Amino acid sequence: MDLYDLLQQPAWMADAACNGVDTDLFYPDKGDWQTSEAAKAVCQTCPVQQECLDYADTPPVEIHGVWGGLSSKERQTRRANQHRRTEAECGTVAGHRQHIRRDETPCGDCSERNRRYQRDQASARRRLDDRRQAACGTRAGYIRHRRAGENACDACQQARRDYEHDRRKGAA
Ligand code: SF4
Ligand SMILES: [Zn+2]
Ligand SMILES: [Zn+2]
Repeated sequence: MDLYDLLQQPAWMADAACNGVDTDLFYPDKGDWQTSEAAKAVCQTCPVQQECLDYADTPPVEIHGVWGGLSSKERQTRRANQHRRTEAECGTVAGHRQHIRRDETPCGDCSERNRRYQRDQASARRRLDDRRQAACGTRAGYIRHRRAGENACDACQQARRDYEHDRRKGAA
């Protein structure tokens, strides 16, 4: 990962267990549950699973891929259930939303958590926008294709092969 990527990332991503893991693992083809399970196994060891889930489920919602240990279908179900949930804890983003819904002034813990959340979301969104616009023939372009659920074009596949090659060389 280069400095540019690093600066665009929400802070929690630095602790992600999937750092350095092949991106493909988290974008399994439809029905490829083996890859999906392998990705989820990584997520189970991840200290920022909750942040990752919240990130993926905040508009613009990440439709594709495994995020926070859940597939897109599972996250869809989770979002639906969240709407139904009644009691949220303080010091969480849901707690903050609950205060607002109840016309209360959010408590300090909820305000603080929400401030951090908004900040992370803002940088995450900038990062996503950059990825959407990433040019073909770059690794970011490759990720853009995969996120959109499409196969990467030849130029992007080549860029990714170069990247993996360099990384392996760097690790050796
Ligand atoms: S929960 Fe999974 S996808 Fe999210 S940061 Fe952790 S390892 Fe990566
Ligand atoms: Zn509160
Ligand atoms: Zn491309």
